[in-house]
Amino acid sequence: MTPTPTLWTPPAVPTLPVRGRSERAPVNRLFFVGRNYHAHAVEMGRPVDKSAEQPFYFTKSPSTLVASGATVPYPPRTQNYHYEMELVVVIGKPGFRVAEADAHELIYGYACGLDMTRRDLQLVARDKGRPWDLGKDIEQGSVISEIVPMPGVAIERGEIALTVNGQPRQASDIDKLIWNIRELIADRSTYYHLQPGDLIYTGTPEGVGAVVPGDRLEGRVAGVGEIALHIGAAE
Ligand code: MN
Repeated sequence: MTPTPTLWTPPAVPTLPVRGRSERAPVNRLFFVGRNYHAHAVEMGRPVDKSAEQPFYFTKSPSTLVASGATVPYPPRTQNYHYEMELVVVIGKPGFRVAEADAHELIYGYACGLDMTRRDLQLVARDKGRPWDLGKDIEQGSVISEIVPMPGVAIERGEIALTVNGQPRQASDIDKLIWNIRELIADRSTYYHLQPGDLIYTGTPEGVGAVVPGDRLEGRVAGVGEIALHIGAAE
């Protein structure tokens, strides 16, 4: 059957490489958790009281994904482009209103991620009560490594770290997440019907900072893998 003609070429669904598999993993949605390590919340001037707060999120378009190892241009309209090293959960099964005790069953695996951020624009938006899109939804601003299959495994600990030009900038542990992997999946599933290919960037530890053209970022999460990014010249 001949497909119905379209006016222009439909954008391709992003797909990610999977360690040990020839098939790639199609991506559905990108969810990002804000302020999910205490020391990072403090450095942003907004400490978190878990007893009185719930996790909060923002989203980015899947079209912002870029593969680990890429060189990306320094983006427009910022003077303060920041790295945020994060563990990324890859959802592999559908789920809605999932109990914390069952949340691990939705996990396909993990990846390393960088939530690149126009910090200047994000803080203006935050302080004016505006959406964060201009600060966060940045072309080539959602960096992702290969996916490591770990079906049904809720990671509870492991070093997470980032260097810039070989110098240590971020170093923490997954056991310092304010809302852990199970809690995040369960909470997200009260708002969304989670689907295979949904990615949850779980938040960044302290030590975020600015990059400049020429910088080389290298991150890793113990037991998951590594990620790299080169910052090119401004367009
Ligand atoms: Mn982040």
